[in-house]
Amino acid sequence: MSKPFKRTTVTAALIYANGPIHIGHIAGCYLPADIYVRYLRATGQDVKFISGTDEHGVPITIKAKKEGVTPQEVVDKYYGIIKDSFEEFGISFDIYSRTSNKVHHDMSQDIFKNIYDKGQFVEETTEQYYDEKAQTFLADRYIIGTCPKCGNEGAYGDQCERCGSTLSPTELINPRSALSGEKPVMKETKNWYLPLDAMQPALEKYVESHPEWKTNVMGQVKSWLNDGLKPRAMTRDLDWGIKVPLPDTEGKVMYVWFDAPIGYISMTKELTEDWEKYWKDEDTRLVHFIGKDNIVFHCLIFPAMCMADGRFILADNVPANEFMNLEGDKISTSRNWAVWLHEYLREFEGKQDILRYVLAASAPETKDSDFTWSDFQVRNNSELVGIFGNFVNRAVILTEKNFESKVPQLGELNDYDKQVLATLAEMPAKIGESIANYRFREALALMMDVARLGNKYLAETEPWKVIKTDRERTATILNIGLQIAANLSILAEPFLPFTAEKIRRILNIEAFAWSEAGRADLLVEGQTVTNIGLLFEKVEDATVAAQVQKLEDAKMQNLLAGKEVPALKEEIQYDDFAKMDIRIGTIIEAEKVAKSKKLLKLKIEDGIKQRTILSGIGEHFQPENIIGQQVSFLANLAPRKMMGMESEGMILMAEDKDGSLAFVQPSKNVWNGGTVA
Ligand SMILES: [Zn+2]
Repeated sequence: MSKPFKRTTVTAALIYANGPIHIGHIAGCYLPADIYVRYLRATGQDVKFISGTDEHGVPITIKAKKEGVTPQEVVDKYYGIIKDSFEEFGISFDIYSRTSNKVHHDMSQDIFKNIYDKGQFVEETTEQYYDEKAQTFLADRYIIGTCPKCGNEGAYGDQCERCGSTLSPTELINPRSALSGEKPVMKETKNWYLPLDAMQPALEKYVESHPEWKTNVMGQVKSWLNDGLKPRAMTRDLDWGIKVPLPDTEGKVMYVWFDAPIGYISMTKELTEDWEKYWKDEDTRLVHFIGKDNIVFHCLIFPAMCMADGRFILADNVPANEFMNLEGDKISTSRNWAVWLHEYLREFEGKQDILRYVLAASAPETKDSDFTWSDFQVRNNSELVGIFGNFVNRAVILTEKNFESKVPQLGELNDYDKQVLATLAEMPAKIGESIANYRFREALALMMDVARLGNKYLAETEPWKVIKTDRERTATILNIGLQIAANLSILAEPFLPFTAEKIRRILNIEAFAWSEAGRADLLVEGQTVTNIGLLFEKVEDATVAAQVQKLEDAKMQNLLAGKEVPALKEEIQYDDFAKMDIRIGTIIEAEKVAKSKKLLKLKIEDGIKQRTILSGIGEHFQPENIIGQQVSFLANLAPRKMMGMESEGMILMAEDKDGSLAFVQPSKNVWNGGTVA
């Protein structure tokens, strides 16, 4: 933290309203932001948590085209889905709004006009890619070509999604239009540019005043600055977006990355009449939570806009995360390789905190990370159930059983008690410091250390044994145990808000301020505790297997979608075909060949004799299931030795799209030895 602030404005990335959200979005930006905000609230700070959907931009129009609906219908549908799942997941925005609202259009136009009136834009007529067939200028996203940096052939005109490079359309090798597939031509158009080149010294000064920024963020920003910033057009030739508030600009809208970050401001205005102090007062700390693909926009371009406008504060920090992968593979919306939040919430009802825990524990804070369902299960079963849940449950059950569900009396403390309570007292400050410095994984681990401390305390003091001989000592132990549980209701709140709330119901307490945490007298002796059941339940193997299967299915769907019928072989003459003696026979015996996964040894009745054919179909058929079936086979293929046995011919198989095999059979049973021609 660079200086003391009076209040904090926290923003979380505006996501395009063209699809639901997945765990990568959550781990990358929304969960860390939520942890941060919940902590600030618990410490009594003035904070506003702002986010919403980005409803302009070309990805929206692409999705609309794909679904055969209007862009407005797309954004209405996904705004609802996204907002609902965030709410159910406990992301505690003060407002979750959208950039299609009038207040946003007005503010974007006001800021654009202000920058224009101050003479900060550079007006330029340039040549841009134009699709003659579709008769339209092509937005960057509508131009596809080869990335000059990594060779990805499906890079977009604004960004390569494989290597993360930000591109301009003219950098693409072999560009083509996503609308018509044609090679686009160059055509003149006028646009308004933010002269980032001229602003570079001011931006450098700004960035250098924040040496505390995360290294992954600083690395990207420095690399941009080292390459030298170029003027960037803030308008586009497009019909979906916010109209440019200047005369003679029909068919032009604002660049989506001009209007989107203004959404943070306009949504704050929607939220409160007091909005200006959250955006114009130098005593306000502005923090942007985003994923790594948005770093340049939040660290350089939006600040440049704010500098050009002159009325707004600049971000104090931009704690961007890297990407989270899924089962070792990049999360992809188009390939449906994702765990979708709205599906998780349906399939794991009431289990928000498991996902929050797992995503926070493996968040891609400094480098890409990986989500796996087996890790999900292990973290739940051994950490949440085995440590956190076990501890709280034990303390409550023993109190219920031995002290009529009343917090028992604290007696004399021994050295071990004192040591445990001293450790407890240190934890809130440690956790808070980690959160304040955007180290959420570390903060979460420290919170779990409190649960571990409690779990270990009960395991070592063994109140279930002591009760048989020393009721007073047992009372002291359980009092301390319950006090630690009460502390967890405060310390777990930023990470596991649903669990924290359950603990409060169990202990019959209100939410305490963070400053109360660390104390050993949160609970009053004699106050009632209510056993409302386990905090966490085990995740069974079958549940994990079903989720993995769902992903496997998605992978298979992708494989099938991308599979094409093989090209034809070269032409042959009738004589070439006539040489082949193809016949029908019946499988009368089938068995696996020892030491081979693939080979089956088949005995075929061919009308003359019983011939042996070895066939590599062992991974597709169980021997007992194919006996009695008629098959086609190549009868005059020269015998071949395989695994020490002779194979007399070859069974003909048809391969299906998914790689499975089928016999080529006559449409009615024919006599064995029947010829095929
Ligand atoms: Zn690339």
